[in-house]
Amino acid sequence: MNRQRILDTMLELCAIPSISETKGEIEAPLKMVKILERLSYFKTNPHHLQLHTMPNDPLNRTYITAFMEGAVPSNKTVILLSHYDVVGIDEFGMLKKYAFHPILYTEHLKTTKSIELPQEALKDLNSGDYLFGRGIMDMKYGIAAHIEVLYEIEKNLDTFQGNILLLSVPDEETNSAGMLSAVEFLLSLKQEKNLEYLCAIISEPHFPKYPGDDNIYIYNGTVGKLLPVFYCVGKETHVGEPFAGINPNMLTGKLLERIHQNPHLSDTLGEIYTPAPTCLKQSDTKKDYSVQTPVAAYTYFNFVTLTSTPVVSSLTLFFY
Ligand SMILES: [Zn+2]
Repeated sequence: MNRQRILDTMLELCAIPSISETKGEIEAPLKMVKILERLSYFKTNPHHLQLHTMPNDPLNRTYITAFMEGAVPSNKTVILLSHYDVVGIDEFGMLKKYAFHPILYTEHLKTTKSIELPQEALKDLNSGDYLFGRGIMDMKYGIAAHIEVLYEIEKNLDTFQGNILLLSVPDEETNSAGMLSAVEFLLSLKQEKNLEYLCAIISEPHFPKYPGDDNIYIYNGTVGKLLPVFYCVGKETHVGEPFAGINPNMLTGKLLERIHQNPHLSDTLGEIYTPAPTCLKQSDTKKDYSVQTPVAAYTYFNFVTLTSTPVVSSLTLFFY
């Protein structure tokens, strides 16, 4: 394993501002093609390196696949799955321009006196073992690690019995348009080459379970996700007669109070608990200022499931 190459690949990937739903998402897979073309396997098998268009995508984004076949024929295939988009950088404030340059950004964090970091982050910064910047952990390091796996397998390809399919998609941080499109390709490749997908290895970061938890986790299996949406219709009234109507913001507020961060609404399996539901949006439908109260309001929550079906989850929400 070439640790320096993993770092260099990660920095190259971080330098592309691939924020979800921006032009950076177009640029990132093009860069990945350039990086993957350095492997001799893809020099001799360029057709195994593909950019795929996504039907009806207004931004004309693509997802990328790199398929490496072992010399010993086998249908057994492992998928290395990642996303190359990242979230926005507003919170970088005055250091925004360094957000995609981790070495510079980390240096500025050390030398800019006016920046106050939380204790834990400060400890990491001073240790010299960490780089800071947008997309390092989620998940350009993971993509670099996957690419390094291809380098390792390539060394012994003559005796390698199996196949590796690297797949990296856009839009994971927003609407999953990349993965939803890629599923079609996974199915068609499986049929075309009669593949057996053994597993998908996702190199996303892991998270501490509690403050100070320095365990390293490998998660197996996956969770379900529901997004219950509540649309509350009130009865509009003039501000001069507040008791003559029902303000829908109060209704969504009551829902928020009951659901948001309510640990009793976590789903469980044995001793595993999902994170409690979180409110992702709460708004009324009024577009402009006026002295009339809003007609309707809505709110939605992130709801992670382990065993509950949508029906069970919604009943829990209503009757807890
Ligand atoms: Zn991620």
